Amino acid sequence: MFRSHRFLSLMLSAALLFQAVPARAEEEKTSETGFFLDTVITITLYGDKDSTAMDGCFALLDQYEQMLSRTVEGSDVWNINHSNGEPTEVSEETAWLIETALYYSELSDGAFDITITPLVELWDVQNKASLVTGDETAEEAYASGLIPSEEEIETALLHIDYTAVSCEGTTVTLSDPEAEIDLGGIAKGYIADCLEDYLLSQGIESALINLGGNVQTVGTKPDGSSWKIGIQKPFGGSSDIITVVECTGESVVTSGTYERYFEIDGTIYHHILDPNTGYPADNGLVSVTILADSSTVCDALSTTCFVLGLEDGMELIESIDSVEALFITEDEVMYRTSGFPEN
Ligand code: AMP
Ligand code: MG
Repeated sequence: MFRSHRFLSLMLSAALLFQAVPARAEEEKTSETGFFLDTVITITLYGDKDSTAMDGCFALLDQYEQMLSRTVEGSDVWNINHSNGEPTEVSEETAWLIETALYYSELSDGAFDITITPLVELWDVQNKASLVTGDETAEEAYASGLIPSEEEIETALLHIDYTAVSCEGTTVTLSDPEAEIDLGGIAKGYIADCLEDYLLSQGIESALINLGGNVQTVGTKPDGSSWKIGIQKPFGGSSDIITVVECTGESVVTSGTYERYFEIDGTIYHHILDPNTGYPADNGLVSVTILADSSTVCDALSTTCFVLGLEDGMELIESIDSVEALFITEDEVMYRTSGFPEN
């Protein structure tokens, strides 16, 4: 069954990045797909007899989209971005998420930066991916605006600086009135954590939450064995798995170029942007997968490490306890941190 209040047609076209294979208790399994926060969402539950938990999950997804989406008028993020530098009151959850995002900005010296919005809008990767025919030359792509000009990038960069965001309690202020925030690099992780908490509170002990590449496992499979989460081969199909990670309650989150991109003349322009250069991060990586208990941590760090690149990303993850990473390079070589499972 599919649930969404928009973009129903995208359900079939978007490939799910991860797979998991339930072992038994098929009769108790329910699975539903929807489209929230520009992402195909699939929730699989075991033991949700009267669908209360499933309904609750989709109600929460709707609630968080209304709170955290940059494009939903009246959301906390929309209000901040339209505040003209005036203090904005937000929910405790939004405030916490912004503070957490700022922590990862500090940690990465700005590689992760929620004031990325002017660049997100300029590159507009998701929209352009549907406009590009594949026949454009680079010259034509510059002329038509598919690839932004140096001047446009320089102008956007003027307003990208996470230190312009301050959060006091539930009051958020942008010291640069032209700055705008985007929680796309961390919100899905937070929502996955909230869904896990909700499901556990409902007595669901076995579930799989897939928010377009953000996978949160709840408990174990119904037979008590671990979930096996497949990590997609870059640019492969959703069933083309490069490795498998076993989980019992952890989260596995991937940031990859192949998730959202367009290609001009053999060059890939993707959605993970480098706040230093203004261009899609271009460091030889195609994906970074993070394994940790918290999906918020996974989400923030997958984007962060993608921008940092293999060497600095590896060093960062090795410095954090209970977080592991898998980096995949353009030539499909896999680099694991010391605790990332081999198989
Ligand atoms: P993810 O798929 O979690 O890696 O997040 C990518 C999304 O995060 C993009 O679609 C943007 O909305 C946003 N984003 C892109 N670059 C950055 C960055 N350097 N720091 C924070 N968020 C970013
Ligand atoms: Mg992320």
